[in-house]
Amino acid sequence: MEKIISLAKRRGFVFPSSEIYGGFAAVYDFGPYGVELAKNIREAWWKAMVYDHENIVGLDSAIFMHPRVWEASGHVGGFSDPLAECRNCHARVRVDHLLEEVGVLADEKMTEVEINKLFAENREKIICPKCGKKDFTEAKSFNLLVQSNLGNFTGDWNKEPTYLRGETCQGIYVNFKNVLDSSRVKVPFGIAQIGKAFRNEITARQFIFRKREFEQMEMQYFVHPSTAEATYEEWRAKRFQYYLDLGIKKENLRWHQHENLVFYAKAAWDIEYNFPFGFKELEGVHNRSDYDLTQHSKFSGVDLSYRDPQTNEKYIPWIVETSVGLDRTFLAVLTDAYTEEKVGEDDTRIVLKFPKKLAPVQVAVFPLLKNKPELVEKAREIYQALKQDFRSEFDDNGNVGKRYRRQDEIGTPYCVTIDFDTIGQGEDKSLEGTVTVRDRDTMEQKRVKIEDLQNILNQ
Ligand code: ATP
Repeated sequence: MEKIISLAKRRGFVFPSSEIYGGFAAVYDFGPYGVELAKNIREAWWKAMVYDHENIVGLDSAIFMHPRVWEASGHVGGFSDPLAECRNCHARVRVDHLLEEVGVLADEKMTEVEINKLFAENREKIICPKCGKKDFTEAKSFNLLVQSNLGNFTGDWNKEPTYLRGETCQGIYVNFKNVLDSSRVKVPFGIAQIGKAFRNEITARQFIFRKREFEQMEMQYFVHPSTAEATYEEWRAKRFQYYLDLGIKKENLRWHQHENLVFYAKAAWDIEYNFPFGFKELEGVHNRSDYDLTQHSKFSGVDLSYRDPQTNEKYIPWIVETSVGLDRTFLAVLTDAYTEEKVGEDDTRIVLKFPKKLAPVQVAVFPLLKNKPELVEKAREIYQALKQDFRSEFDDNGNVGKRYRRQDEIGTPYCVTIDFDTIGQGEDKSLEGTVTVRDRDTMEQKRVKIEDLQNILNQ
C-alpha cells in the first residue's frame, strides 16, 4: 500500500488535500493523471450501464436536497457507525471493524446494545491500532451525515440543518416520477447517476478506500415485485462480468453475502476486491424491495406508485440497486495494475499495467534527441496527428530510457520514438518514414511505417 500511495503522489495520480497545510484527513485530490484515470473509469461505467442498455437513463441531481429526504431515507435517524475512543491516545475507532479484525462477525447495522455486548466479550483481544493499548470507552452510535448551513441565516447550525448527500441514490428516488413523466421509459427501467457523496467517516485510514468526500456510481432499477428476484440475479451476474471486462484480474474479485440485512432488504451481496489490506467491499448489489419509493411517498405526500399501461395494475416498483465507489474502483484498478519487474541483472522497473482503455495516456511520442530540430519537428507532427484519436503525450525530457521509465510508471501502453532513420538521416535509408513503437508490457520494440501507426494503435 505504501508503494502505491507513494507512486500515486510522485506521478500525479492522487495528492492529499490541502497538503501544504498538513493535509485534511480522509480528503484527497486527483492530480493530472488521476483525473484522467477517474474520467476513464466514469466513462466505462456510464457506457456499461447507460449506453449499453436501452432502458437505463442518466441523471445528475444536486448534492443538496430537501432535508426531509434524509428523514424519509432513514439517514437522520439511523445512518451511523459505532464509535469508541481509546482512553490512552484518544484515537477514535470503529468498533465493528475492530471486531471484524479479530474474527468476530459485526457490522454497523447492529444496535448499540448488541455491539457493546460483543465489544465487552472480546475486549482482551482488541487493541488500539494507534497506541496498542486495550482501554476503550463504550461504543456510541455516531451519525455519518455531513451537516451544512445552506439557506440557514440564523447562525444556529442545528436549527434547520441541511445535509450534503450521504449517497447519490436518494436523488434518483425523488426524481422517479419526473423521469417517468418526461422520458419514454416503462417499468422495468433504470436510472443511473455518478456524483459526490459525503460521510463523516470515523476512521481516516486506507488512503482513498474510505474518504469523507467521495464519488459514487449508482444505478437503481425499477421492477415489478414478481420479477425482483430474477432481475437481482441478472444484475449480480452483469456487475461481476463488468469488472472482468474492465480488465480486473478474476482472482482479485469475490462475492460476499450480507448476513445481517436491514429490515427492508431482501438480498445484499458485495463484490469485494483484494486490496493491499485484504478483500474489502468494492460494490454493493442490493434488492431493496419497495422501501425507498414507499418512504418517499409517505414523507412527501406524493404518490410514487406506477400504473402498468398494459395491465392497468398499480403498484410501488421494487428496486434493484448497484452501487460502487469511483474512488474504490480507482484504487482497485491501480492495485491490479501495479507491477514490479526485474529487468536485466539487478534492476527493477515499476509498471502500471492498466487496461488500455483506462490508461491516462495511451501513447507517448518522443524525438530521440531534444536538441535536433528536424527530429523534434517530425515528432511534433506525429504527436499532433495521433492526439486527434488517442490520449497522447509529447515527451522530450532526459534520455529515451528515462522516458520509458516514466511512461511505465504512469501506465502508457505505447511509446513512439522518432530517430534519425525516421527522417532519412540514419545509416539504413530503407527505414525512412518508419518509427519505433515500444510495448509497455513486453517492452518489445517494433519498426512501423508512419502511415500505419494510427491503424496499429487502433487495433
Ligand atoms: P463500508 O461498509 O465500506 O463503509 P458501505 O456499505 O457503507 O461501505 P454503501 O453505503 O453501500 O457503502 O456505498 C456504496 C459504495 O460506495 C461502496 O461499495 C463503496 O464503493 C462506496 N463508498 C462508500 N463509502 C465510501 C467512502 N467513505 N469512501 C469511498 N467510497 C465509499
